Amino acid sequence: MTVCGPIAIVGAGIGGLAAAALLASRGPKVTIFDRFEAPRPVGSGLVIQPVGLAVLDRIGVGSAARTHGAPIWRMLGHEARSGKAILDVRYGQEGGDLFGLAIHRASLFHALHEATRAQGVPIVTSAAIAEAPGGTSGRELVTTDRRRFGPFALVVDAAGAGSALSPLTAKPLPYGAIWGTVPWPKTNLPADRLSQRYLRAEKMAGIMPLGHLPGQDRPLAAIFWSLPRRDLQTWRERPLADWKAEVTAFWPDFAPFLETIRNHDDMVPARYSHGTLRQSWGEGIVHIGDAAHRASPQLGQGANMALLDALALSEALASDADNPLAAYGAMRRWHVRLYQAMSRGLTPQYQSDSSVPPLIRDHLLVPLSHIPPMPALLSRLVRGDLIPPIAGRDFP
Ligand SMILES: Cc1cc2nc3c(=O)[nH]c(=O)nc-3n(C[C@H](O)[C@H](O)[C@H](O)COP(=O)(O)OP(=O)(O)OC[C@H]3O[C@@H](n4cnc5c(N)ncnc54)[C@H](O)[C@@H]3O)c2cc1C
Repeated sequence: MTVCGPIAIVGAGIGGLAAAALLASRGPKVTIFDRFEAPRPVGSGLVIQPVGLAVLDRIGVGSAARTHGAPIWRMLGHEARSGKAILDVRYGQEGGDLFGLAIHRASLFHALHEATRAQGVPIVTSAAIAEAPGGTSGRELVTTDRRRFGPFALVVDAAGAGSALSPLTAKPLPYGAIWGTVPWPKTNLPADRLSQRYLRAEKMAGIMPLGHLPGQDRPLAAIFWSLPRRDLQTWRERPLADWKAEVTAFWPDFAPFLETIRNHDDMVPARYSHGTLRQSWGEGIVHIGDAAHRASPQLGQGANMALLDALALSEALASDADNPLAAYGAMRRWHVRLYQAMSRGLTPQYQSDSSVPPLIRDHLLVPLSHIPPMPALLSRLVRGDLIPPIAGRDFP
C-alpha cells in the first residue's frame, strides 16, 4: 500500500463502507466517520447492476446481498395512453446468471457493515465533518461542533450528495420523486422485473421488488412516483387519498402497493441533481461516489459508481504508481464521464415538462432500440460495462 499512515473515510454509505472494507483488507488503519448517531442506512431500494455485484463479490459480500435482494432480469416501462413499451431492457437470458439485484438499502448496508466489522474498522458516529484542513503531517478532520481528529495520511470523502468537503456544485434537476417501501402484495405484476408506467415525461410511476430485510422473510417492494421539484413540498399539503386516487387511475396495478401507505411520511421525497468533479482528488484527499459525481437515478448507476470508485481506489493505492490518487482518477475518468453524459441525455426523456424529449423517445429512440445491435448495447449500458469500468484493469 503506497499510503503510509492512517486513512479516514468520511461517510458510512455505500461507497464509504465498500472503500473501508477494501482498504482495511490491504493493511492500513482505517477509521470511518459519519454524522449519524448509530450506523443506519437512509432511503428505500436500489438496483445493484452486474458491475456493482462484481465489486460486492470482491469484498466478499456478494452472496449475502444475493440472499436478501431480488434478481431482476428486465426493466419494462409502458406509456399509459398508447400502452406501448417505451423502455425494455433485458440483462440477458431470463432466469440466467446476468441480472440486476434490486435490494433494500438496509440489506446492502448490513452486508457492507458486516464486512467492515470483520476487518475491525471502527465507525465514529455523531461526527458531522465540516472541514479537512491539510498540514505537514497530513489532513485533520474537523466536525461541525469543532472537534478535531487526525492527522491522517489520506482522507476519503464518501459523504455523498451533501459532502461538505467536495468542491462539486451540482445542478438541481427539475424533477425528483417520492419513494416508499411496502410489503409485496397479492398482484399479477411479475416480481422479477422493474415495472414502470409513463405519461409523456410528466408522470412516471415505478414498482421494484426488493427481496427481504435481514432476519425477515416478508418480501418487499419499492414504489416511486415522479414529481417536479417545485411540487415535492406542496405534495404534503394535498390529501393523501387524492394522490392515491390519481396514481390508481394512472396505473390500476399500483393500487395494492398503496394499501400500507397511510400518511405522507410513508413516502420520502428525493431531490436529484447532476454534476461531475473535473478532478476527484487533491493533496491527501480523494472524493468518491456522489461526493464526486451526481446524477438522476434513471440509469440506476449511482451505487454502482460508488462501488467501482471504492475498488479502483484500493487498486490504485496498492499499485506502484508515483501518484496513486492521479492513477485512481485516470482509472475512473472515462467510465464516469460516459455514464454521466448518458444519464444527462436520457433524464429529460423520462422526467421533464417538455413534450419534445418524450416525442423523440417514442418515435425515434424506441424504434431504434429494437434494431441490432442496440438491444445488446442498451443491456451493456445498464449492466455498467459499456466501456471498461476501471481503465487498465480486466474487471469484472
Ligand atoms: C431515490 C434514489 C434512488 C436511487 N436508485 C438507485 C439505483 O437504483 N441504483 C443505483 O446504483 N443508485 C441509485 N441511487 C443513487 C445511489 O443511492 C447513490 O449514488 C449512492 O448511495 C451513493 O453512495 P455514496 O456512498 O456516495 O453516498 P451515500 O450512500 O449517500 O452515503 C453518504 C454517507 O455520508 C454520510 N454523511 C453525509 N454528510 C456527512 C458529513 N458531513 N460528515 C459525516 N458523514 C456524512 C451520510 O450519513 C451517509 O451515511 C438512487 C438515489 C436516490 C436518491
